[in-house]
Amino acid sequence: MSATAVLSLVREDLRAFAGYSSARSSALVGEVWLNANESAWANPADAQGIARRYPEPQPSVLRARLAALYDCDEQQLLIGRGSDEAIDLLVRALCEPGRDAVLVTPPVFGMYAVCARLQNAPLLEVPLRDTGAALVADIDAIIAAALAGNAKLVFLCTPSNPAGSVIALADVERVAQAMQGRALVVVDEAYGEFADQPSATTLLAQYDNVAVLRTLSKAHALAAARIGSLIADPALIQVLRRCQAPYPVPAPCAALAVAALAPEALAVTAGRVAQVKAERERVLQALPQLPGVLRAYPSQGNYLLVRFADAQGAFDALLAAGVVVRDQRAAPQLHDALRITIGSPAENDRVLQALSARRAAA
Ligand code: PMP
Repeated sequence: MSATAVLSLVREDLRAFAGYSSARSSALVGEVWLNANESAWANPADAQGIARRYPEPQPSVLRARLAALYDCDEQQLLIGRGSDEAIDLLVRALCEPGRDAVLVTPPVFGMYAVCARLQNAPLLEVPLRDTGAALVADIDAIIAAALAGNAKLVFLCTPSNPAGSVIALADVERVAQAMQGRALVVVDEAYGEFADQPSATTLLAQYDNVAVLRTLSKAHALAAARIGSLIADPALIQVLRRCQAPYPVPAPCAALAVAALAPEALAVTAGRVAQVKAERERVLQALPQLPGVLRAYPSQGNYLLVRFADAQGAFDALLAAGVVVRDQRAAPQLHDALRITIGSPAENDRVLQALSARRAAA
């Protein structure tokens, strides 16, 4: 494909869309800035004076740090308000309402379907396949459904939330190959740091219809800062930037994220990730010994999906112990399941204790 072939996947009416021209986007130079109707004085609460001016639309230092973190070019990376915003942008920019479909693999993270609904994009659902040992993406079925149903976006969640399974890079590649010129394959790696396999960014050089979602919300412990990244073909990044709000990255959040990507902070994060992975295996081994636990699925994320004989009872027992977990019973195939985030060792002990205490109560 040519360098800009991916643009054929963008809504025709948006391909040449210029977007909003903000005061910040003009390349003027001066000493007295009176072009954006900002205040001449900092707010007394803003001791560092970082909030008086509108921020850079894509903060350059942060963008460079994120590109280094995810091993891509800066031109391939768009910063948004969490990866949630990137999902929304992709659906809006690529799907012609009522015509271009979004493919998802339930049970899966719900925002893909929410964004499709808001855009009136048809939703194609290809359920995860239950092998008994795991809930996994059905690659052949995904390709067949995407081709038959006019998918413009195929969301592959790996590690999958809530199932915890991963999609092998060769399988992502198979989908990308089948969808070339037809659909963008969005690989959601929100939990990628907790997984043992390489990022799908390695496919970008070969497939311009692959996009990867990353976030600082999980492994980097910055959920409230709302810093997500979309990594994709530079031409697609440019189009999406023009569809995005003028100033999507608040300066205090960018400053926090830059600090979090300094070597010392990254070393702490790496240690925490290793600890989460170790705790995940400890809890995974312990759960099947507990009363009423039918199955705990192996996971490559920072959570475990667990089936119970009495999921309501388990949920209530945990709640009575002050532990709030995610009830998954409304999701397809998960009528008896809860998703338990891996916490600190003490928090995980509290989960195990609350569930083992059910034996005495039973
Ligand atoms: N993708 C997946 C699979 C998620 O689970 C989440 C959050 N739960 C997100 C994306 C969105 O994360 P954020 O907007 O915080 O980057």
